[in-house]
Amino acid sequence: MTAHLDPRAPLVLDTYELGRRPGSQREVTLTVPAPADLGIELLGVPEGAEVELDLRIEAVMEGVLVTGAAYADLEGECARCLEPIHDEIEARFQELYVYDDEERAADDDEEELRTEGDLVDLEPVLRDAVVLALPFQPLCQDDCPGLCIDCGARLADDPDHTHEAPIDPRWAGLAGLHDPSSKTED
Ligand SMILES: [Zn+2]
Ligand SMILES: [Zn+2]
Repeated sequence: MTAHLDPRAPLVLDTYELGRRPGSQREVTLTVPAPADLGIELLGVPEGAEVELDLRIEAVMEGVLVTGAAYADLEGECARCLEPIHDEIEARFQELYVYDDEERAADDDEEELRTEGDLVDLEPVLRDAVVLALPFQPLCQDDCPGLCIDCGARLADDPDHTHEAPIDPRWAGLAGLHDPSSKTED
């Protein structure tokens, strides 16, 4: 372990009060600034935006169990028509931080989270929970029709628009083949 947690970092929590007594717990409500890249490419919590956390921190035999929910505003864009999306997210999570002086299991789980002294880092848990709670493909509306393939207009704004004599791309290719002027040496 090389990186050390900064006890003043907003997403680092001190569990000292629990005294490692299994069963002792406390409730914590925090408002923290969102870390960078909290979300997916098209949709996420803007960096620095407020994230509200409702947490229950509980000492268990092997570590500290953190159960909670995060609430925040989302900004992004529709995967089909690129219209801006403003939404809210509620992400729930539960994670065990194994005491850092507990022996590692034989099948050494790299993903296992550890306490660092009395400190726990909420950032990876928050990030995973937010990403899991986001839609795979964010849409401005469930049935967003996307963009016109001919002109790029947003079809939700103009669902009935048509183009004069649309050329079906399948025929466009054939037309080229039969065009005598396109004939070369044979
Ligand atoms: Zn859309
Ligand atoms: Zn069009």
